[in-house]
Amino acid sequence: MTEEHVAVAIVGGGPSGLTAAAALAPRVDGGVLVIEREAETGGIPRHSDHPGYGMRDLKRFICGPAYARRLTSMALDAGATLETQAMVTNWAGERRLQITSPRGVRTVTADAVVLATGARERPRPARLVPGDRPDGVYTTGQLQNLVHLHHAHVGNRALIVGAELVSWSAVLTLREAGCATAGMVSGYPRSEAYAAFRVPGRFLMEGPVFTRSRVVGIDGKDRVRAAVVENIETGERTIVDCDTVVFTGDWIPDHELARTGGLAMDPATRGPVVDAGLRTSSPGVFAVGNLLHPVDTADGAALDGRHVAAAVCGWLDHRDEPPKAVRIRTGAPLRWVTPQLVSPEGGVAARGDLLFWVDEYRRLPKLRAVQDGRTLAMKRTPWPAAPGRVYRAPWSLVAAADPAGGDVTVSFA
Ligand SMILES: Cc1cc2nc3c(=O)[nH]c(=O)nc-3n(C[C@H](O)[C@H](O)[C@H](O)COP(=O)(O)OP(=O)(O)OC[C@H]3O[C@@H](n4cnc5c(N)ncnc54)[C@H](O)[C@@H]3O)c2cc1C
Repeated sequence: MTEEHVAVAIVGGGPSGLTAAAALAPRVDGGVLVIEREAETGGIPRHSDHPGYGMRDLKRFICGPAYARRLTSMALDAGATLETQAMVTNWAGERRLQITSPRGVRTVTADAVVLATGARERPRPARLVPGDRPDGVYTTGQLQNLVHLHHAHVGNRALIVGAELVSWSAVLTLREAGCATAGMVSGYPRSEAYAAFRVPGRFLMEGPVFTRSRVVGIDGKDRVRAAVVENIETGERTIVDCDTVVFTGDWIPDHELARTGGLAMDPATRGPVVDAGLRTSSPGVFAVGNLLHPVDTADGAALDGRHVAAAVCGWLDHRDEPPKAVRIRTGAPLRWVTPQLVSPEGGVAARGDLLFWVDEYRRLPKLRAVQDGRTLAMKRTPWPAAPGRVYRAPWSLVAAADPAGGDVTVSFA
């Protein structure tokens, strides 16, 4: 085992990690190393060959692979080192990472570590869908990998489980692969995606969107033959003839390193707890991107990467402990919030936003933040809160929290 030292080690070379590297490399005295387990950096956008990337961070509207290449160049031009086919497999101590690659196993010690490991869609076994176990069942990530990187044949008729933004991305990929979409299944009263996606998307489908429904069975010995869709309210069942089932959305952070590193974890996001500076509970360890908010758009993840640079530089200069902060909690139907900690010294969250996930649609929601029975602020947003996508509200809702007080609860007023 060889030993190496860098100023900043960034685990994960997706939009958030690459953007953090580009922001940090010119500002840091010492090396900035991005460690990426895949053969190329870029993260999910590398596999996602359709437009829709880069709007808020690069002020462009480009395809995933072009976006991935651009962020890679920006990190390299800034002076960061990008190591691919290298996976961080464990912690070897405080801010010491064990890295496993075809070149062997080694340990890197860093003055600061940024976790940027992203999120993944929960596969079929995690969703407890009964029935046969045939071939032809994928997540969107697996589907896009097969189609865009391996140019493989995926099937002729697919059922898509989920109706989030990513589900419509799966419709596009299936179409490109010559596979018709026989239907889409959503547990909600309507598709969760923005109308701008779901309305034109309907013209690309051959079958219906089954709302308030779930998949309760998959049939087929070697290959999928059909899937059984059940209406949650009426119990009525429909058999959909298909040879492919794509499980979309239903995200879980890639949080193994955060957990094994002993970081305080949020049972709601299932990612690490962070403050507005994206500091975790472990001094000198930071977290960015979809590891924190499963799942936001890539530009949101990238802007976390830009935002974290200030707190990382502050840590490198002063080795300050994370400031004393109070916890932000949510009332249903808000499922989670991030950042989860607020303090006067912790600063303002990335983009000035509190990020939420909601379980019910609200058209023009009004939020109330309460601490120890006192209303801190009430805010209405001129945009809706909808399931299946991150809902943003102003950080100023919680900014006046008393650091010596109890938890702050945010709920719909
Ligand atoms: C099908 C699909 C379509 C999408 N379409 C859009 C769109 O049109 N527009 C948009 O803005 N967003 C879109 N998104 C969302 C967008 O891709 C994500 O928000 C973005 O990729 C998140 O960036 P990230 O850096 O947080 O994570 P990721 O992109 O997931 O990157 C994380 C990286 O960390 C690496 N990694 C993880 N663990 C380790 C480890 N232990 N060691 C080394 N490396 C590790 C992974 O290999 C990965 O490269 C889409 C997502 C999907 C799945």
